[in-house]
Amino acid sequence: MPTRRTQGRGRRFDSVLDTIGDTPVIRINRIGPDDMTFYVKAEAFNPGGSVKDRLALNIIEAAEADGRLKPGQTVVEATSGNTGIGLAMVCAAKGYPLVVTMADSFSVERRRLMRFLGAKVVLTPRALKGFGMYSKAKELAEANGWFLASQFETPDNADIHEHTTANEVLADFAGERLDYVVTGYGTGGTVSGLGRVLRRERPETRIILSEPANAAIVASGYVNTRNSAHQATESHPAFEPHPIQGWTPDFIPFVLQEAIDKVYYDDLIPIAGPDAMTWSRRLAAEEGIFTGISAGATFAAAMKVAESAPKGSVFLVMLPDTGERYLSTPLFDGVAIEMSEEEWAISRSTPTAQMAAE
Ligand code: PMP
Repeated sequence: MPTRRTQGRGRRFDSVLDTIGDTPVIRINRIGPDDMTFYVKAEAFNPGGSVKDRLALNIIEAAEADGRLKPGQTVVEATSGNTGIGLAMVCAAKGYPLVVTMADSFSVERRRLMRFLGAKVVLTPRALKGFGMYSKAKELAEANGWFLASQFETPDNADIHEHTTANEVLADFAGERLDYVVTGYGTGGTVSGLGRVLRRERPETRIILSEPANAAIVASGYVNTRNSAHQATESHPAFEPHPIQGWTPDFIPFVLQEAIDKVYYDDLIPIAGPDAMTWSRRLAAEEGIFTGISAGATFAAAMKVAESAPKGSVFLVMLPDTGERYLSTPLFDGVAIEMSEEEWAISRSTPTAQMAAE
């Protein structure tokens, strides 16, 4: 007899879109400090595999509701992947054509995933950085009368995190201690949405923001220029390419500016790419939690804070996506295809089905 039994979710879903959100908060049992409690919020449980499903759904539904998006109108967006995958899923489910612009430096599985979900992917040269793909999307929208999703500027971004992500955190920690919530930023939607709610409802909870050590654009104190539509009009001088995909574009987005202006974070922690990889690998290999590079970076930031946090502290770490999205990236460097010496020895230790020696 199995020791576990499930009940079903007690409902049937009318659309895959209704399965977005309500991601699980999971305790870390093996890799955290013994005298503290670490939880992660695993956004990979969203149907598109990332936190961006939330924003994609709200961008489309808010625009449908107020008439900015017409039936059958093409949607266009610049995205490093997860927003594109989320938008592709939402557009497929609702019947909108989608065009995504993306720098050719991002992982190839992201492009193929979006195309698999029915989107068109227009690549832009990596030398033009995030700003290049962003300008391309804007230009295509203007030239064709397409609906620009505007994840970096739209209020529909932080709004959905306020109403779903943050709400879920409140509910899952109701009556329970929560000392730190740790997140990175791409658009800033997650931190701005969390900040609005946690500052009001859980003022004792410290919010930790993190960014790549070699692209510490918030820490630099310089805010890039923006136009009247709140779109960045220059690449941030403190930006350098970094391996933490989905984090820190080469400008401070308007959506993130709210978190800066309203001081929604108590500490800002720089994380180097290799530390992000280390913690993503440890989450997978030692906790069974398969998650991306930015998740490893966020976990690394939490571990830094833990070094000087009081004993007994309770952490919640945002894990934005699934590790499956990074098979072709440095996250999987060193993960062999061929058998190791140890694996050969295991094979040779019994007589059956041994591989021929190379
Ligand atoms: N990590 C990954 C992998 C992402 O795709 C994103 C979104 N770009 C983030 C983190 C950051 O989330 P947000 O845009 O809400 O700041």
